[in-house]
Amino acid sequence: MEKTYQSYFNNAELLDFLKRYQEKYPRWFSYESIGKSILGKDIWLITLSDRTVKPPEQKPGFWVEANIHSSEVTGTQGALYLCEQLLEDLDSSGEDSPYFELLKKITYYILPRFTPDGADAFFKEKNSSRSTPIPRPWRFQESSFNRKDLDGDGEITLMRWKDPCGAFKELKGYPGVLVPRASFDFSLESKGEYYQVLPEGVFENFDGFSKTKNNDFGYDFNRQAPSYYSPEGVQKGAGELPLEFPETRAVAEAFRQRKNIFSSISYHTYGGFIIKPPSSIKNHELALEDFMVIEKMAELLKTSTQYSVHSGNDDFVYTPGKPLSGNFDEWYFLHQGVFGITVEYWDPWEKAGLSWQKAVEKYESISEENMIRLLAWAKEHLDEVDYFKVWTRYSHPQLGEVEIGGFKTSFFLTNPPIKFLANELEKVFQGTLQCSQMFPNVIIKSQEKTKLAEGLFRLELVVANTGYLPTYGSVQALDMKSIPRHPELNYNISGESQDFCWIKKVTSKDLNHLKGFSHGSPRISPFFGTVFSHEYEQKLEWIFQGEAQISLQIDYAKGGVLTVNF
Ligand SMILES: [Zn+2]
Repeated sequence: MEKTYQSYFNNAELLDFLKRYQEKYPRWFSYESIGKSILGKDIWLITLSDRTVKPPEQKPGFWVEANIHSSEVTGTQGALYLCEQLLEDLDSSGEDSPYFELLKKITYYILPRFTPDGADAFFKEKNSSRSTPIPRPWRFQESSFNRKDLDGDGEITLMRWKDPCGAFKELKGYPGVLVPRASFDFSLESKGEYYQVLPEGVFENFDGFSKTKNNDFGYDFNRQAPSYYSPEGVQKGAGELPLEFPETRAVAEAFRQRKNIFSSISYHTYGGFIIKPPSSIKNHELALEDFMVIEKMAELLKTSTQYSVHSGNDDFVYTPGKPLSGNFDEWYFLHQGVFGITVEYWDPWEKAGLSWQKAVEKYESISEENMIRLLAWAKEHLDEVDYFKVWTRYSHPQLGEVEIGGFKTSFFLTNPPIKFLANELEKVFQGTLQCSQMFPNVIIKSQEKTKLAEGLFRLELVVANTGYLPTYGSVQALDMKSIPRHPELNYNISGESQDFCWIKKVTSKDLNHLKGFSHGSPRISPFFGTVFSHEYEQKLEWIFQGEAQISLQIDYAKGGVLTVNF
């Protein structure tokens, strides 16, 4: 069986992995369907945690989301790579594995493939729909464009035809390679040296002349999250309603129900970016301690990946001043109070030594110098057939004579070629692991039952948080009322004697959330000792009369559930 870094898994291979792992590692690994896609495919969620200690939902949770965009299948491999790394190490090292303790303490919720429909279409014909291959219903009111593998070679590439109005030209000395026509390249009509370019496909309701290419990517699930949602007319791909699709609805529900999730990461491709939410509001509108945690996550990921860090609000934008809206990472944080961050795997720019100024430039265009470097790198490391299809003539039913060919982007730009996959997965895995290790960790520091007099007892309990984050996770979680302001305390009392009664009893309102050693402060200086707050622990006291077995359960929200028996 192939490892996660040796190939890209289609839906059947993904399910095969899930079945194998559940069978092999039942103590740690399980998967379930959280709903069906619009075309009826299961959306799988993995729960990775040591079940022998306590139920997964009673531990701090870390959420990994991948492949919300159809063609970004590297994320799926990255999500599974996490399982593979942890469980294979446990398999070989047993209790000596660092993950043995980790999986006792936390739970990973892993969504390896947000869009099974999109991935299916991608694997079948390299159809890079944005999130789903189903067309948008209102498109048929107008002339519009459908991507289609016209020459049946299993890949949707490009079509080109000569036109003096064309926006592309061939790169000098590189026949077949198109680059953007320069602003000063005025047309010499007689030479016919410019090209129009479209993806392989056909127009719907073609009137014989009008070539209208609308948003042929279709719906974008990562524009359908409820926070700062904007409809299609404002935000391309957003559709008509937040969570309009069964996929987005199912994921939002599954996420919302798991109140123990304290932090999350979203895997995308490509570019080699770390993108910090929120995009729709400015950083200074966040609580400082929340802002610092997102900064810390970005720093950890940057260190492990060498990817560049960008703010979703003012940096990672296509139009200045217009951030993208309806992103899931933003919703996780703004509405659910769960930290989020987005990773765009794979940076061919860096690999090939290309220069760039602005993040989204890597998606939008390429200079002639950069194209020459990219080609040189590709030639050295890859077989041409894997990244370029030689232009071949094709009689298009609507456009007449065209050529089909150009770059095959699927496993060149969009996803790393297989030989580069392992390295990308490993880098992001290390950063992800470190982000997940910020979890709040509640322990019993001491517990004592003292006999005060005949039939009169005092219980003393000191609870403490030894983790980095506070047990409430983020200030945002409290402000959004995603979790209760006080930890919830429940009693389970059995075997009471006739005269049993409380003299002094602790209730939920007496309980505080516990700060972590981050102290919510950016200023942790080893020189001045200025950062100290005793909010990392709390002492609780009860007095009762009579006899009873007393068991307490304290739900510390993001810190998990603590059970104490007296
Ligand atoms: Zn994406």
